[in-house]
This record gives sequence, structure tokens and C-alpha cells, in this order.
Amino acid sequence: MDGPVRDVVIVGGGTAGWMTAAALAKLMGTQLRIRLIESDEIGTVGVGEATIPQIRLFNALLGLDEDDFVRRTQGTFKLGIQFVDWARPGDVYMHAFGPVGGRDLGLVPFHQYWAKAHRMGRAGPLGDYVFANLAGVRNRFMRPVAMPDSPLGRIAYAFHFDAGLYARYLREYAERLGVRRTEGRIRDVRLRAEDGFVEAVVLESGERIEGELFVDCSGFRGLLIEQALKTGYEDWSHWLPCDRALAVPCEPVRPLTPYTRATARAAGWQWRIPLQHRIGNGYVYCSRFVSDDEAAATLLAHLDGAPLAEPRPLRFVTGMRRQFWNRNVVAIGLASGFMEPLESTSIHFIQAGIARLVALFPDRRFSPVEIAEYNRQSRFEFERARDFLILHYIATEREDTPFWRECRSMAIPDTLQAKLDLFRSSGRIVREREELFTEVGWLQVMVGQRILPAHHHPIVDGLGADELAEFMARTKAVLDNAVGVMPAHEDFIARHCAAR
Ligand code: FAD
Repeated sequence: MDGPVRDVVIVGGGTAGWMTAAALAKLMGTQLRIRLIESDEIGTVGVGEATIPQIRLFNALLGLDEDDFVRRTQGTFKLGIQFVDWARPGDVYMHAFGPVGGRDLGLVPFHQYWAKAHRMGRAGPLGDYVFANLAGVRNRFMRPVAMPDSPLGRIAYAFHFDAGLYARYLREYAERLGVRRTEGRIRDVRLRAEDGFVEAVVLESGERIEGELFVDCSGFRGLLIEQALKTGYEDWSHWLPCDRALAVPCEPVRPLTPYTRATARAAGWQWRIPLQHRIGNGYVYCSRFVSDDEAAATLLAHLDGAPLAEPRPLRFVTGMRRQFWNRNVVAIGLASGFMEPLESTSIHFIQAGIARLVALFPDRRFSPVEIAEYNRQSRFEFERARDFLILHYIATEREDTPFWRECRSMAIPDTLQAKLDLFRSSGRIVREREELFTEVGWLQVMVGQRILPAHHHPIVDGLGADELAEFMARTKAVLDNAVGVMPAHEDFIARHCAAR
């Protein structure tokens, strides 16, 4: 069969479904008839409130006004993730967005100078030289200004927002561009006899909705990709053992911190995400090591304000579908896999899946070549991000609970081992172009987890000890001065995007 695909059916109206609908409508709306089916009775997972800076590209692609978006989603700004108690109880570090250091001295990255200076006792912790960390811990925020040579010109940021409000916001946007929404529960998926392609879904009302391309955004259940097409799932729980979460909002407190916090707990970790109207909290844990009741007690004992609801349980298996695109079904969002929210990656994977789908958009032939390429890129992205998450668990010195003792002794993927070996040897970090996490992301987490390089790059020895110390001190002074002119995060929000 030749010719363009016209009828796209999106199954699911969570963050994944509405992001897909909005982007396809914006980019290909004149060529496509887009329908989205969602079930109010089933609902959405309703979590997923912390993002990474790439989301700004997505919002910009849609042409959203950023202040309006923050206001409508009760959002706040995010400069990074603060990790508490991970390598040892009492440790605190930030994986902050944006650069490390100030201006590089030639070809060697800043951290090579830092590694030597720190070993000599002539530099403070790495976070002292990370602008977004310094701004974050002082609760400062502003958008970058047109000063490319100043740290103020290189501010990178993301958002915290209410996932339900974001989906609603995108729904309005998509419906304005002609996306047709149908409320109802799908009870049956019909496959074509000759090739097993999905030809229609049937709702409980009896309505049959046909399509050429189906985007499965049905969440963990994977209604089309798994239940209908039996694609298979690659289970990563031997590397990422947490399998449950409890989520609970609590009353907001001041100051409004411009970062997510991830605090290690006895059998997992707890998130804290500040929004304008509440703080989102959750305990992600491994059910082999703690009961649900104990987990709930731990979570509730560590809230900043009074809880606003009962803790909500969620269950998952970390891993990914064996194929993200199978026949005429592309899985986006939780239907494609889940890696737990430690580095706020899931919404980014939705965005990346949409970008890949647009880049490799099929015609009616559904060429296996494009499908294979989509699956290759998706697998690569998931696997490398997985390695980054595993790093947080294996690079711990904690011995205090069975969970952490098991994490310490876990076998790890070869790709991660190679990265660790290279960094331990000489502070070098190599990453391939398509990898999500940057060199400075790996750097901050490795150092934050107490992995330090044994040697530095030989070029660094070109500076004498005093020159090196002066370079470090000057860098820190420049960063501190720049933070000093920034407004408080909550003043920035009050001025530009306070929710009404
Ligand atoms: P869902 O929200 O589950 O939506 C599924 C949709 O499919 C719903 O509309 C449902 O009604 C519909 N549906 C299902 N079955 C049927 C049917 N039979 N008929 C009709 N409709 C149907 N991501 C981040 O980026 N940052 C975070 O901080 C973060 N934290 C998280 C914390 C936890 C504990 C978890 C579990 C996830 C977190 N995520 C996070 C991931 C994020 O929540 C999801 O990626 C995001 O919400 C997308 O979900 P979804 O749309 O794929 O699925």
C-alpha cells in the first residue's frame, strides 16, 4: 500500500497522549486527522512533575508563552536535582544544569584543573564551581540574559509543574488545532488478519475507531503494544530494583526552592518537588526490602508541610519494550517503558519519542527500515540513560541497610563499567553524540557519589600550583558575584508568572 498516512489514533490522554497530540497537530495538522481516546474512569498516573531543560524546546516548538505555561500549571523553575545522603549519610550534592566552572582554559575541561587543585587541597568541593548549584542553594533564579561571556548568559533551566494541569493545557491547545477527543474505555483491539496490524479499537459503547497509525499512550498497561501485539518487555529490575512508589502532595513552605530534591532512604529514595500551590513528594522503593506500610510511614514522617491527601500507590517494573514501534503501533510514554524518576527523564523520553516519530513518520508502506531505525535510536537513548541511573545506586558507600548493601554489590552493564574506569583513571568522560546526559552531568554525579579521578590531564601541569589556586579562586568569585545579582526564585515568579 502506498500513499500518505492520514488517520492517526492516539490511545491515552495522560502527559504522553496530549504531548503527542499537541505536537503532531502543530507540525502535521494539515496532513493528518488526529483522534485521541481517553478514559476518565481509568484516569492517568498523575505524577511526573519534574523535567529537564529539553522541555523548553518542546514548549517553544508549540509556541507556548512560557510565563503563561508556568502560571497555568502552578509551575516553578528548576536548576537541577539535589541528592541527599546518597554516597554516605550526610552527603549533599547537586546535579545542576548548565556548565561547570567558568571559562575553559583551552581544550581541557574545567574539571581537570579542579581535580588537581582539589587533590592538592587548593580547591573546594566541585559544587563551589557550578553556577546553577550556587544559585540553587541560595534559592535564586532568573532567565539567561544576552551576555554570552557571563554565567548569567548561560543559565540552563527546566520546570516543575502539575502534570494534570499540563495535560489540560495541552488538551486545549490540541483541540484548538483540530484534534478530536473521544472519552470512553477501549474494550477490544482488532488486528488485521493478513499482517497483524491494528485496524481499529472498539469502545465499551460499541463505537469502532479505525486508524492507519496508532500511538499507544495508554500507560503501564501498554494496551496496544503489549496486550494486543505481545511485543515483550526487557526487565531491568536487576539493575534498577525499585518497583513501587507512594506519592503524596503536602502544603507548600517557603522559600520556594528552584531544584528537585532526591533523598536516599532505607530501601530507595524520596522526591520533593516544589510547586506554587503544593509540594509533590514520593517514596520510590524496592518492595523486597520494605513493606508498603513502612514506606508510607517513612514518607509521611519526612514532609515539610501537612499532607493534602492519602499516599497514592504505584507499581512498576523498570525496563523497556523490546520494540518501541511494532507494525503500525508506536508506544510513547509509560507504554514504552519506565526507568523510575530519579533523573526526571520520562517526560523527556515522551518528547524524544515524538521527535523521532515526526522525523521517521511513515507512509502506508510502514517500511521496516524506518521502524528499525526508530527502535535503534530509542533503545540507545534508554540504555544510556539507564546506565546513568544505575550509577547513583552502585556508587554508594552505604552499608546501613540490606537494600544499599545489595546495590553496592550489583553487577553493572559493560557500557557503564567502561565509563567509570576511564573517569577513575584520568577524569576523562566520553559520551556518544546521541546520549542524553552530558559530560558535566556524569561529572557531577560521579564526583557527588565520591568517585574521584586518580590522575588529571597532563596539560593541567602547565599551570604552577599558585596559578592553579588563583584560577580556582577567580572562577568561584565570578560565579558568586553573578549569583549575587539574581533575584530570589519566588520574587521572580511573583513578578512574572504567579498562578492566580
Ligand atoms: P498515563 O498517565 O497512565 O496515561 C494513560 C492514559 O491511557 C490515560 O488517559 C488512560 O485513561 C488511558 N487509557 C488506558 N487504558 C485505556 C483504555 N482501555 N481505554 C481508554 N483509555 C485508556 N516523569 C518525569 O518526567 N518526571 C518526574 O518527576 C516523574 N515522576 C514520576 C514518578 C512516578 C512514581 C512515576 C510512576 C512516574 C513518574 N514520571 C515522571 C513519569 C510520568 O509520570 C509519565 O511519563 C507521564 O505521566 C506519562 O504517562 P502516560 O501518559 O504515558 O500514562
